[in-house]
Amino acid sequence: MSDREKPIGVAVLGLGNVGSEVVRIIGESAADLAARIGAPLELRGIGVRRVADDRGVPVELLTDDIAALVARDDVDIVVELMGPVKPARKAILAALEGGKSVVTANKALMAQSTGELAQAAEAARADLYFEAAVAGAIPVIRPLTQSLAGDTVLRVAGIVNGTTNYILSAMNDSGASYDSALADATDLGYAEADPTADVEGYDAAAKAAILASIAFHTRVTADDVYREGITKVTAADFESARALGCNIKLLAICERLTNDEDKQRVSARVYPALVPNEHPLASVNGAFNAVVVEAEAAGRLMFYGQGAGGAPTASAVMGDLVMAARNRVQGGRGPRESKYAKLPIAPIGFIPTRYYVSMNVADRPGVLSTVSAEFGKRDVSIAEVRQEGMVDGEGQRCGARIVVVTHRATDAALSETVEALADLDVVQTVNSVLRLEGTTE
Ligand code: NAP
Repeated sequence: MSDREKPIGVAVLGLGNVGSEVVRIIGESAADLAARIGAPLELRGIGVRRVADDRGVPVELLTDDIAALVARDDVDIVVELMGPVKPARKAILAALEGGKSVVTANKALMAQSTGELAQAAEAARADLYFEAAVAGAIPVIRPLTQSLAGDTVLRVAGIVNGTTNYILSAMNDSGASYDSALADATDLGYAEADPTADVEGYDAAAKAAILASIAFHTRVTADDVYREGITKVTAADFESARALGCNIKLLAICERLTNDEDKQRVSARVYPALVPNEHPLASVNGAFNAVVVEAEAAGRLMFYGQGAGGAPTASAVMGDLVMAARNRVQGGRGPRESKYAKLPIAPIGFIPTRYYVSMNVADRPGVLSTVSAEFGKRDVSIAEVRQEGMVDGEGQRCGARIVVVTHRATDAALSETVEALADLDVVQTVNSVLRLEGTTE
């Protein structure tokens, strides 16, 4: 056997939704993978918690001693698909310190420890790949790090969490409340028993951190990402959105902002927003994900597909595994972390945006001008106002609902306006405040 054909030893950590698909593909596509890589992949072992002979793989491949598996001399690449951050971090650091390449799908870990892991990869001159950590099967990390490496990325905006997109799509389609759409999503297996990471936007924020880091050559962690979840979005918001020609989506937005002095900053944020129906993200429904990238020379590019699930995620993991294995065979390395730009992070108040505000007000003359004055005081110009009378259980008029859509202003001016509105005597309640994205005004 020549050196080029020396097998590449692989350890897979985790045999769950994704790990079992990766193990299946390594076995079933062995000949094709060997031809593409230039050497066969050999599965040395699979790390799990429960070692048993009913797991669909030869029991002698299973081990609960992750450290020993990672440390084996005949393991060249470690594929981490366990999930919990602590054991994953420990295993990945040990692998990199031992000079092994690492492939992981762990967005929570990558968004939290990217610097530490990148440094360990750099010190070991080993590959650290994580395509599957953002948007499952959809290739977005590699296009950003390689295909667009010569362009300047201006904005990356996407729907990167399938659970929340499923819930919001159901609310839009059926007029369901948030609670009933969440209950359906849980029954159908789209939402976990504890849905906090998804519905409060933590998962999307981790992905936004990864996307912003890569797009803007700046280290961004999940703590740098402004975050709001979808739990306060109501059926009435969807009604208003429809009347305005919009849908409501949980967006992860990463943006390069340039001020008048040509100074650049990075914004990374996650929140539910109104999106005009003609925008490509408005029609991404169900559990699907999509990411729109805007670059200076390339213009707008859209990536769309299955953002989760064992097989789709395994596709992205396998892409990384083949790349890492080819690099081993050829004796090179793939692209590494690029953080040369070191752009500062812009606080949310600095971001120019548009607001949609829905409030219940007293039904008497002059209310609209009192409300409008609060916007005017802060230089926020109003683009659209809708007012409807409200009736109580006995059919008596009991106030009015006003929906205001603003033109672009800083988030700080807009949120100050909303605080002032809530203090007005004529305003009974501020029902909802959502941002409006995807417009040019
Ligand atoms: P999963 O079904 O819960 O499987 C996790 C696997 O890891 C199990 O086999 C489990 O062992 C093993 N494991 C967990 N903790 C361990 C520990 N401390 N020591 C040893 N083994 C341990 O998870 P998954 O859905 O496949 O997800 C795996 C990773 O991919 C996560 O980081 C996730 O965020 C990421 N990801 C998943 C998807 C998706 O659609 N599922 C999409 C994108 C990214 P036992 O089987 O013995 O319990």
